Amino acid sequence: SIPLSFFGGIGAASRAGVLVKGSNYLEALTHVKTFVFDKTGTLTKGKFAVTKVLPNEGVSETELVFLAACCEQFSPHPIARSIVDYYDGELKKGDVSDSRELVGLGVSANHDGKTIYCGNAKLMRKVLPETKLPESEIGTQVYVAYDGKYVGSLEVADVIKEDSKEAVSDLRTASVQKIVMLTGDARKVGEGVARELGLDDVKTELLPQDKLEEVEKLKSKLDDQDKLAFVGDGLNDTPVLAQSDVGIAMGALGSDAAVEAADVVLMSDEPSAIVRVMKIAVGTRKIVW
Ligand code: ADP
Ligand code: MG
Repeated sequence: SIPLSFFGGIGAASRAGVLVKGSNYLEALTHVKTFVFDKTGTLTKGKFAVTKVLPNEGVSETELVFLAACCEQFSPHPIARSIVDYYDGELKKGDVSDSRELVGLGVSANHDGKTIYCGNAKLMRKVLPETKLPESEIGTQVYVAYDGKYVGSLEVADVIKEDSKEAVSDLRTASVQKIVMLTGDARKVGEGVARELGLDDVKTELLPQDKLEEVEKLKSKLDDQDKLAFVGDGLNDTPVLAQSDVGIAMGALGSDAAVEAADVVLMSDEPSAIVRVMKIAVGTRKIVW
């Protein structure tokens, strides 16, 4: 039978803005030794703004921004939204056809019978392996190729959530031994965020299946009774949420699929809510035992 106080714990968690889908997850939280965070939308706000436009030689800024916005107009990714917002012209449905989301890489679409690719270095290495790409430490570069040629890049920048740093350091004192970040973003950007937050490790340029593998590796390093929690916004990381001992989703920013796959949902999207629910979990256990 389930001890009554666990229901009390679930109630207390919900008053603290955290939905816990079962008392077993509250119990599991007290055994979490490794915390794995997604970056975009989880530790950072996932609200991008275009900060730089770098057209290639012979290409105008307007042309570059138009091609990027065209290609991104049907993507739900926050990077895509920032590029479409930045473009101040008009976008017509007929401008593109055959839009595709290339998960963890970017997007592609057809314009005027030619293909536009818009995305990260990993994507460009497949599409234009010879091209030397500009890099940046602050923002994420979105590279654009059109008709088999490199046309330039847009730099987009996101910001770390106000409470991420404190949440990470408070988690550490809550008997958590390892806090890592997994991201599909560029190495320099991921390492910058990890340094700023004082994380133990960071793995970058990961596709969704790479994130699954990393989580499996981290799980295999734990003792039997120890648990791994993954925190994500569900954009490309729903499988990892489902696979972790405790999957924690951002409720407001996250997708419906993420909220469904998760064991714990943070209504406010604040990493500090995890610290609150960890304390409630420990308090609840004390009453039970
Ligand atoms: P994270 O793992 O940080 O949550 P995602 O898996 O959502 O990031 O995306 C990984 C990377 O793929 C992004 O940093 C970006 O470089 C690229 N990317 C994904 N979707 C798009 C898009 N619609 N437009 C441009 N780049 C994209
Ligand atoms: Mg994400």
